[in-house]
Amino acid sequence: MDSRFSSAPRAVSSPATLVDPQGRTLDYLRLAVTDRCNLRCSYCMPEKGLDWVPTLAVMTGDEMLRVGALFVRLGVRKIRITGGEPLVRRGIVDIMASLGALPERPEILLTTNGTVLTDHIDALKAAGVHRINLSLDSLREDRWSKITRRQGFARVRGSIDAVLEAGLGLKVNMVVLPGLNDREIPDFVELTRHLPITVRFIEPMPFDGAGRKMEETITGEEILLRLRSRYDLTPVLQDQSAVDKVFSVRGFAGRVGVIEGHSRKFCSTCSRLRVDARGRLRTCLYGASGVNLTEMMRDGATDDELVAAIRGDIAFRFK
Ligand code: SAM
Ligand code: SF4
Repeated sequence: MDSRFSSAPRAVSSPATLVDPQGRTLDYLRLAVTDRCNLRCSYCMPEKGLDWVPTLAVMTGDEMLRVGALFVRLGVRKIRITGGEPLVRRGIVDIMASLGALPERPEILLTTNGTVLTDHIDALKAAGVHRINLSLDSLREDRWSKITRRQGFARVRGSIDAVLEAGLGLKVNMVVLPGLNDREIPDFVELTRHLPITVRFIEPMPFDGAGRKMEETITGEEILLRLRSRYDLTPVLQDQSAVDKVFSVRGFAGRVGVIEGHSRKFCSTCSRLRVDARGRLRTCLYGASGVNLTEMMRDGATDDELVAAIRGDIAFRFK
């Protein structure tokens, strides 16, 4: 473990699996390391930003490591580092390296907007990061700036090459916004002609970042129909708990996929847990947040007490 972090994982006296009342094994943790972001994607947050979580309420690196280590002891095998924008958090690559160095060697994954990815790519590789999900909603600078309300397209676009040169796996995620970027779907598919990447088209949640209902939306099914009308797609066998439908395209090096996030077609096989930047556990994206692990740790909770609280929330997980 990185010597910068003092709290080494402690023993947990519980069976090493988390299973919810519906029998779903929970082995995938999405850990939000900050709520802050250097972009303002119109579908995600208001232009002026959010009421950011006060720094003191955010989990420290040590606390994240303790929580990560606990979940890994409880059978979590994949930890996705997310946000806000995870790479704006100072020291995050060291935290990822320490999580990846846990004795159980969990897979460490990253979801990023790519704005500063190239600066960190060597360190991420050295930290043992396996794959990166890059959010990119347009291949046109003007449109990208309109969606994100910020500048910096060239750096994001350039990070695709940087990830591939570093030899890391890459998935590009594009939120499909009807009337704004949906005509670019073929351009994104074209990216996969020569690059060994997966481009995934995400069905938008029909609310914008300020809680207003979007005027136009599109379902994953419609996206898939559009893809099928132009390309010869062959389904790729996926993990049972995968949230995406992935296809190879005849003659192309990469793959394409669709994520039906809003239609919620994958609840019955969902293996995910979420911990937000405050350290609150969420056993379902559509459910209320549960126990605050940061507060418990700061109140002196033992690992067994944290595990009991986690299991308590999971016992009430949604169907
Ligand atoms: N900032 C990082 C990024 O953009 O990749 C990580 C956090 S971001 C919240 C994670 C993912 O959620 C991104 O792929 C983003 O496109 C997606 N997302 C955010 N709001 C969404 C919405 N309203 N509908 C669909 N996807 C959304
Ligand atoms: Fe930031 Fe990611 Fe939200 Fe865009 S989607 S505003 S990059 S957190």
